[in-house]
Order: sequence, then C-alpha cells, then structure tokens
Amino acid sequence: MTKIFCVANQKGGVGKTTTAVNLAAGLAKLSQRVLLVDLDPQGNATMGAGINKATLTASIYEVLLGMSDVDSARVRSETGGFDVLPANRELAGAEVEMVDLEQRETRLKLALEPIVADYDFILIDCPPALSMLTLNGLCAAHGVIIPMQCEYYALEGLSDLVNTIKKVHAKLNPDLKIIGLLRVMFDPRMTLSQQVSAQLESHFGDKVFKTIIPRNVRLAEAPSYGMPGVSFDPSSKGAQAYIAFGAEMVQRAAQFAGPARAQELA
Ligand code: ATP
Ligand code: MG
Repeated sequence: MTKIFCVANQKGGVGKTTTAVNLAAGLAKLSQRVLLVDLDPQGNATMGAGINKATLTASIYEVLLGMSDVDSARVRSETGGFDVLPANRELAGAEVEMVDLEQRETRLKLALEPIVADYDFILIDCPPALSMLTLNGLCAAHGVIIPMQCEYYALEGLSDLVNTIKKVHAKLNPDLKIIGLLRVMFDPRMTLSQQVSAQLESHFGDKVFKTIIPRNVRLAEAPSYGMPGVSFDPSSKGAQAYIAFGAEMVQRAAQFAGPARAQELA
C-alpha cells in the first residue's frame, strides 16, 4: 500500500523542506517509487529537487483548482530520482480561491487518487502555517512527520500542531496519525541540544525517530545546485543521516499500517 506522509510544522525554517527533499531522495536510493508534493508557495522543495519553478507548464495550483490533473503536472527530479508535483508563487492564491469550492479540504486527496498506485511513498512538504493548504496535506495523508530543532523553543507551538492533527483525525481523516518527531539540525556539542533531545525522548517515547539529522553544511549548500543533499554529497554526514532515515521510514511505514486510534495521536 502507498504511504502518504506530510512533513509539517507551522514554525518556519525548522527543516521541513530539507527533510521532504532528502527523505524523497533517500527512499529513491532504497529503490522506492516516490512522489514529492510541494504544497508551499515558496516552491523550495521544487527548486531543491532541481526543477525550475519559473518555467512550469502546470503546477499544484492548477491541480488544486481542477484546471490540471496530477499526471500532467508531475515532473521528474533527475537529480533526486523521484517525481515532483511542483509549486510556485501562484499557489499563494489558491488559499483564497479554494474558499468557495466544494470539498476544499480534500482537493489534494481527490487529485492524488488516480496516481497513488504509481508510488510506494508520497511525501508532502507543507508550508509554515496551519492553513488551508496544510489542511489539504493533512487530509490526504496517513501520517505526519514533524521535524524539530532541539532548542529551547522547540516544544512551543507543538501543541497547536497536535491539536490540529487531532481535529483533522476526528472530523476529516480517520487514517491520520503522527508517525514521529524528527530531530534535525542537531549539534551534539551543545548541551542544550542533548537536553532537549532527551526531553523529547522521555515525553514522546517511540514517537521520536531513532535517526537524528545533524547540522551539516552540505545539506544547506545542495539546493543552490538544484540537488538533494543526498545526491549532492552522498558521503556527507547529513546525506548519510537522511539515507538512514529513509530506511527507518520503510520499517515504520510497515508497522504503522491500518487506521489510527485516537490514543496514538500524541
Ligand atoms: P519554511 O518554514 O520556510 O518552509 P523549512 O521548515 O522548510 O522552512 P528548510 O528550508 O528545510 O526549513 O531549512 C531552513 C534552513 O536551514 C535552510 O537554509 C536549510 O538549508 C537549512 N537546513 C535545514 N536542515 C539543515 C541541516 N540539517 N544542516 C544544516 N542546515 C540545514
Ligand atoms: Mg519549507
């Protein structure tokens, strides 16, 4: 069964896109068929996968508004080895334009249905907001991956995200669950990083992924070459961590099959 996961956190700059792009590339290296959905008007996942967001013939914007289907809008990331449903600034307008449409929360879910079987994993990179776009991501997904930096304010805002996920689970998508919290941009030399990391483990137990993504400059450099870090410098610590995370996801995805129970949400 295809696993559909959102990478979400309403905080900005916490590593959502880096995670979505490199997990996509890591899974592709493990011979998984992957579609990366860019649900952010910033189009960072699109660019990071090596696709020029300025020259798209169709994008997720047209898909959400029913003017194109996913099959015509998807493009191949040659540098990453996966497909991309790309986004650009036009998508910012969709938020408003969808307001009057029917089933506005489930437009992405419905649009993906015809092509779901083409993939083992569909990863959705969400924007930094609990907006209608993110809601579309949550309604389309089986689970949520939450990247977090191990810093003092990491937990602030997490309850808003968890409450949103609980509401979506109760009202719109009974399949939805939190797959796990991913520690990113980790600096093992910082005592605070270690403390927050230990705190996350004691609070959230096995909802915290075993893999930890280190702060690694190669991951930050890769997007300017239009490449996932995993392809740009496969031997770097960051790339190795995302490949390990891919393997952990393959393992977890098998365990987390089936509908969510309310107590699994947080
Ligand atoms: P936004 O909320 O704006 O969508 P985001 O949550 O998607 O942001 P990213 O764009 O992935 O976050 O990352 C923010 C910045 O941190 C980027 O410049 C990125 O290159 C850098 N970055 C992300 N992860 C790492 C890492 N593990 N090591 C070093 N730099 C990183
Ligand atoms: Mg992003």
